[in-house]
Amino acid sequence: MVDFNLTEDQLGLRELAREFTRREIIPRAEHHDRTGEFPTEICKKAWETGLMNLHIPESCGGLELGTFEGVLLVEETGYGCSGIGTAMEANNLAEAPVIVAGSDELKKRVLGPMTEEFQMASYAVTEPGAGSDVAGIKTTAKKRGDTWILNGQKMWITNAAKADWFFVLASTDPSQGHRGMTGFVVPRTSPGLTVGKKEMNMGQRASDTRGLSFEDVEVPDANVVGGVGQGFKVAMAAFDHTRPEVAGMAVGVARRAMDEAIAYAKERKAFGQPIASFQAIAFMIADMAKAIEAGRLLSWQAAWLIDQGQRNSLQAAMAKCFAADEAMRIATDAVQVFGGYGFNTEYPVEKLMRDAKIFQIYEGTSQIQRLIISRHILS
Ligand SMILES: Cc1cc2nc3c(=O)[nH]c(=O)nc-3n(C[C@H](O)[C@H](O)[C@H](O)COP(=O)(O)OP(=O)(O)OC[C@H]3O[C@@H](n4cnc5c(N)ncnc54)[C@H](O)[C@@H]3O)c2cc1C
Repeated sequence: MVDFNLTEDQLGLRELAREFTRREIIPRAEHHDRTGEFPTEICKKAWETGLMNLHIPESCGGLELGTFEGVLLVEETGYGCSGIGTAMEANNLAEAPVIVAGSDELKKRVLGPMTEEFQMASYAVTEPGAGSDVAGIKTTAKKRGDTWILNGQKMWITNAAKADWFFVLASTDPSQGHRGMTGFVVPRTSPGLTVGKKEMNMGQRASDTRGLSFEDVEVPDANVVGGVGQGFKVAMAAFDHTRPEVAGMAVGVARRAMDEAIAYAKERKAFGQPIASFQAIAFMIADMAKAIEAGRLLSWQAAWLIDQGQRNSLQAAMAKCFAADEAMRIATDAVQVFGGYGFNTEYPVEKLMRDAKIFQIYEGTSQIQRLIISRHILS
């Protein structure tokens, strides 16, 4: 049986997220987009409200909510501002490898404190020379006694400015390629770890991305996530949990773009009538509505599968690719509906168009999602 009804708890969470978005995110979105200032206060309030770190296990003091709940939440925050939404969401990406593969001791030590005080964390896999090609990373970790010594660089690390710890992927046996990689939890205070300057990005400017540099950074053996040589698998497995949420947030951006387009199209007159009465505009909005529904259903399906303990890599790739591409198209069409005003920073849709673009890039580009989909379909 398929049941699209949400439970009381799910409806309550979505309402809480919607209200938080209306009260805390929407009024501050323009400021953070213009200044690039990190939304620390909003994230702190979200943490206090129980809207961050949804998936931390109950055994570590967390809520242990599913990916499905995460999808419901991020559609709302993405509606308000996906830059702020991403700043709130990045913890989940860093925590996912630890939740999926960390030892009980590591989970308690690293995830426990995140439920007790406001902390942030980052997922650090991408490097200046390797993004899509994760197997091409050059950061190394060499064993010395009970510790590992990390050297290398990371790039585009979301929330790096604020992270208390990083999930870092490094090569522990370069001769083994992706089978010789290991994931580590690296505390921010580790000597030899340097966080770079804030990158000035096109969109989602409230979110913070920086490079990291590791110079003989010592990490205890106890901070290995999921075993030596398991890092690539663990880093990729995290995406099965997080890509449905990225898709959900892209749906939120698309929904906002459609709402803005509808309101404007009903109000703006041309040739003596509201532009919504022109079929060219009305059909653009119809296409927005159907893509939003489809993107939502794909993200719900991908989330539901992983919450049931089933494989979802294919569905997560489909959801992420579809929702990201459609968010970009819908935001572009919303700018079109606004005409010249759409191109102007006084109106809301140009920000949505800038913000939408990153969904086609981070957590695996749309080309990489198609690669995953085609390999599944053709194999
Ligand atoms: C704002 C922002 C936030 C980010 N946050 C994080 C983060 O928190 N942690 C983290 O680890 N990374 C993060 N990233 C990195 C992001 O995941 C990478 O940028 C992305 O995976 C693409 O890698 P790349 O930039 O090296 O591009 P490349 O891999 O060099 O790709 C360039 C182009 O080639 C295409 N391409 C590459 N290989 C193939 C192929 N086999 N077939 C077809 N096309 C291909 C790509 O699709 C793309 O269009 C972030 C990036 C940005 C911009």
